[in-house]
Amino acid sequence: MRPSAWFQCIRGCAARHPLGEVLYRCPTCDGLLEVVHDMDVLRGRTPQSWRETIGARLGGSWPLRSGVWSAWEMVQPQVQPENIVSLGEGTSALLPATRYAAAIGMGELYVKQCGTSHTGSFKDLGMTVLVSSVKQMISDGSPVRAVACASTGDTSAALAAYGAAAGIPVIVLLPAGKISAAQLLQPIAHGALVCSLDTDFDGCMRVVQRLTHDPTLYLGNSLNSLRVEGQKTIAVEIVQQLGWEVPDWVLVPGGNLGNVSAIAKGFAELRELGIIDRLPRLVCCQAARANPLYRAFAKARAGGRALTEADYVAVTAETTQASAIQIGAPVSLPKAVAALALNDGLVEEATEAELADAAARGDRSGLFCCPHTGVALACLDKLVHRGTIAKDARVVVISTAHGLKFGEFKSRYHRGDVEFPCTLANRPHDVGSEPEAVVSAIHRLLDRVGQAS
Ligand SMILES: *Cc1c(COP(=O)(O)O)cnc(C)c1O
Ligand SMILES: [Zn+2]
Repeated sequence: MRPSAWFQCIRGCAARHPLGEVLYRCPTCDGLLEVVHDMDVLRGRTPQSWRETIGARLGGSWPLRSGVWSAWEMVQPQVQPENIVSLGEGTSALLPATRYAAAIGMGELYVKQCGTSHTGSFKDLGMTVLVSSVKQMISDGSPVRAVACASTGDTSAALAAYGAAAGIPVIVLLPAGKISAAQLLQPIAHGALVCSLDTDFDGCMRVVQRLTHDPTLYLGNSLNSLRVEGQKTIAVEIVQQLGWEVPDWVLVPGGNLGNVSAIAKGFAELRELGIIDRLPRLVCCQAARANPLYRAFAKARAGGRALTEADYVAVTAETTQASAIQIGAPVSLPKAVAALALNDGLVEEATEAELADAAARGDRSGLFCCPHTGVALACLDKLVHRGTIAKDARVVVISTAHGLKFGEFKSRYHRGDVEFPCTLANRPHDVGSEPEAVVSAIHRLLDRVGQAS
């Protein structure tokens, strides 16, 4: 028997809805849906057998060697193998960030390189599940014609790539002028129908929800909880890569708050299955210019209360270099509030200068950080400084995208073309071409580098 899973309302409405149904919200109360798995069926495999099975698949053949599909029974059990659309997602490195850790006085820090992926961000993890599910739906006779999403850049890149691999048309709605050139190029290259809207991400999100009232146009945003199932494998990979041990803290940049919810769900289900015996603490890291969850958290903390949904007020996100999290009205907020409660979580924020310096410091230690990873590293610095995170804690920072997607961000920093001092800016030297002059210039410059370090 294939393990079973269904959509169910996170507010506890009893109805179960098939994963093949075109449904994004609870038909009774309009609450968010989540995928619920029959845990009794999944517990039919012992924890040890789960560890061995996942480990064996990761070293085995396509497509179950994908970091997502190696755990398919607990991810999306209703996709037949021939409908899996995989681009080799997951299995990203859990990099020991030794020099960065030493620089901030920490012992054990890892960076989970989710951006080292086919389209350069963790969005691939969710999109393989969503697009495979759509392919399954179409082969089961569903009238779905296309998949549509609103995007701050990475979602549309991932959807366009997986749609192209599946042969399913893709529509993307992008906020004009608010995403990087690399991110715009990806959906264009993959042949998606690209629409540029004169609004921000939150505005695009409203339009795509209207567009997908048409049941033949399927919604690809993380409001669609199938994506969460793929992204939760970040938790599975982390513990697998730590020899099935659990880190003390996991820091993740948050915008629409799907990923922090997904990672929490992954750890919670691993514990339910007995594969791990405790949960890490989560930190959701926001840009100070787009920080509705941080504001809610600070308000609750000032009142000496636990965070609730009632603390939240939507904001108009201001422009931030961390463009993928420039979101003022996060769709998955209720899930994130529940996730933080379950994982004894915190919310922290980083300013533009803090995130840029942290990303640059990461780059100096051999990482190549996108601005969102910079947000998480900056929040880590603060929490370690404050003593909230102990120096000997085992910490994982989720790197959400590849630095190469954000070349403009880095080049502005190193040119000093920003409104804050760039303490780690590094500029090329003009040394002419005459060999003796070049050599003596290099010696002079090298002496200077030696004095600085
Ligand atoms: C989507 C994205 C995020 C934010 O994830 P949410 O699930 O929206 O909170 C962070 N960083 C990058 C690079 C992203 O693409
Ligand atoms: Zn409901």
